[in-house]
Amino acid sequence: MTLRGFKSFANKSKLVFEPGICMIVGPNGSGKSNIADAMSWVLGEQSPKTLRGESMGDIIFRNKKEELGIAEVSLVFDNSDRMLPLEFQEVKVTRRVYSKGGSEYFINSSPCRLLDIHEIISDSGIGKGLHVIVNQGQISEIAVLKPLDRKDIIDELIGISKHKIRRDRSKSKLLKIKENINRINDLTQEVRRIMDPLKTEAKKAQEYYDVSNALKKEEISLFLTYINDLNHKWDFENKAYSKYKDELEDVLKKITSAIKVKKEYEKLISSKKDEFNYWEEKLENFKSSEDALDNMRALVKSQRTMFSTVYNMFDLKLYRDKGTEKSLTKKSEGKFSSAVQIFSDRIKKIEKLFNRILKKINTAAIDRAIMLDIDGDENLIRKELDDLKEMIDRYNVDSINKNKPKNLPNKDREDKIKYLCKENLDRSEQLSEILKRVFVVSKEIKKRLYPEFEKKKNSVKEELNSINKLEIDVSKLNISKSNLENNLYKINLRKEQIKEKVKDLTLRIVDEYNISVDFAFKNYKPVTDVKESSTIVNKLRNELKKIGIVNPNAILEYNKIKERFDFLWSQKQDLNESKKGLEELITKINKEIEEYFIERFEAINKNFKNYFKTLFPLGEGELQLTSDNSGGDDNIGVDLKVDIGNSKFVPLSLLSGGEKTLVSIAFLFSIFSTKPSPFYIFDEIDASLDDMNLNRFLSLVKKFSGNRQIIMITHQKKSMEIANTIYGVSMQSDSISRIIAEKLNSKE
Ligand code: ATP
Ligand code: MG
Repeated sequence: MTLRGFKSFANKSKLVFEPGICMIVGPNGSGKSNIADAMSWVLGEQSPKTLRGESMGDIIFRNKKEELGIAEVSLVFDNSDRMLPLEFQEVKVTRRVYSKGGSEYFINSSPCRLLDIHEIISDSGIGKGLHVIVNQGQISEIAVLKPLDRKDIIDELIGISKHKIRRDRSKSKLLKIKENINRINDLTQEVRRIMDPLKTEAKKAQEYYDVSNALKKEEISLFLTYINDLNHKWDFENKAYSKYKDELEDVLKKITSAIKVKKEYEKLISSKKDEFNYWEEKLENFKSSEDALDNMRALVKSQRTMFSTVYNMFDLKLYRDKGTEKSLTKKSEGKFSSAVQIFSDRIKKIEKLFNRILKKINTAAIDRAIMLDIDGDENLIRKELDDLKEMIDRYNVDSINKNKPKNLPNKDREDKIKYLCKENLDRSEQLSEILKRVFVVSKEIKKRLYPEFEKKKNSVKEELNSINKLEIDVSKLNISKSNLENNLYKINLRKEQIKEKVKDLTLRIVDEYNISVDFAFKNYKPVTDVKESSTIVNKLRNELKKIGIVNPNAILEYNKIKERFDFLWSQKQDLNESKKGLEELITKINKEIEEYFIERFEAINKNFKNYFKTLFPLGEGELQLTSDNSGGDDNIGVDLKVDIGNSKFVPLSLLSGGEKTLVSIAFLFSIFSTKPSPFYIFDEIDASLDDMNLNRFLSLVKKFSGNRQIIMITHQKKSMEIANTIYGVSMQSDSISRIIAEKLNSKE
């Protein structure tokens, strides 16, 4: 062991512990116990109190003159037997501390952790608790420890502690896991409280979305079907429209051409009509002439009848008036005859005119190119006839009023009148004869005139018929035209309706679903059965109504919280898994520890009985296991059941200092012998022993030192006698400890 700056060892000091028993001797306060402290410290002692200080800084050398900044202790093990689990011949463990704070550890000069040092010494029997170093004044305390603390010492020395540490680490892990599980349970409960009602809402919302999606699909599909249908109708109407339009054009053409033809006919007949009218007029005129002639003939006839009647009267002498004959003067006779002459002339003139007309008619009938003109002749005839009629009327009135003279001699007058009458009668006969001839001529003219008129009339009639027919055609065509126009108007009306419907449907679908018609056509299909589809739409609408108002965020919120819940749940599963694993591990470790302990305890107890007998030849002692049933893991304790002889039977606490020391030694050595450590340090454990007991103790130590190094600090001369090596420690006025080696040859 090398010390530098540790407690009173200001200067670098070195102790080489040879095999066997090494005694460290020196005056009080020279620094012997400091060497034991150095051993504890270099092996990792953490408690300043154990090292008899207030703080770790207290272990650094300090005197009135100086104060060191660093303390360092190194311990070199001969590891040729691989006692330490490292592949080195020698293992050097170093600890360094600075006055400003901080500890450093080294293994073979390489920095390491305290844990690494614990690791290499744990299996060596030295143990972390360092019970192999028995400090000054502690030995008697071991005897009066509580059973559980005593058990801890055993555990420490036989190497159970490190399993306990492992177990306790698992236990604290388990505790944390349990806390986490509780925390997660609380969280899970909290989450559930929110999640459960959300789940119902989300389910409802999902249902709503499913139904409304189905409705959307159905409605859009139905919409497409309607649109397709309307498109077909539109096409159909367009086709019908162009068909009717063509027909209308045809009708209009026909009307135009019929009107054109009609106009041509009209133009054609206009000249013929003039001719016809002319002839018609002629015929009319002729008829009136004929009537006039008839009148005249009737006139003449009545006159002749009159004359004949008068003549017959005179002839039958029924009429006897004296004055009648005498009144007929020469003058009146002359007047009468001239009148007859005028009649005759006029009639002849008329006859002549008629003949001329007849001739003209004949000519016109033969050659149509010559325009017939008999106006003048006709008028002449009419005039002649009118004059003649007037003359006859006047003559009749005159002859009746004036030709009745009262002074005419009866007989003469009678004859005269008779004669006149006869004369008149003849004349009338003559006139009648002429008129008869005129009538014949007239008849002849009429015979010629009528066919001509009929011919003209017929020729116009044909065209008129055609025109009439055309007019009927045109009016029929006009009916067709207005029918067609009506149809076209109706089609336009229907097209407007289709447009309106398309617009309405499109607006509704665009409004309701916020999609374009193009999108609808790309992503949806028209339905096959409109009726069925409409039923579905109604059904879905009702379902939506039944579902009512939903929370649109419920699904999202539920999914979020469900995710959180699932996460917590899986964490809980993981934690439960870990918990189970740890619990099993703890149980397993506990079982192993217990088994190992029981196994070792037997041996320790056996040793204890032996050592006790050595130290108390009259007494008897044994170890007993206790159990406090507190339910913890380490509830086994080790009790001492001792009888030191001399019929003393008192509690351990009432034993004397020396007796306590002996009991403690028996207990410690019984453990040491089952799990040997490479070395032991005993700081003045022999201080309170009397000579006899010291001898018993020293013989035990000698027996014990066969394969172990024993370092003893002592003031007892008897003890020094069994030493193989003695180190002296001295301290001068500078209060710095110094080592004085005094190597002795063993007596044996
Ligand atoms: P005894 O026989 O009475 O048990 P000892 O030899 O065991 O005596 P130690 O306890 O080892 O004596 O040494 C104690 C001495 O060490 C004291 O005098 C003390 O002043 C000194 N000492 C302790 N710590 C320091 C320190 N940090 N610096 C200097 N000296 C110190
Ligand atoms: Mg001391």
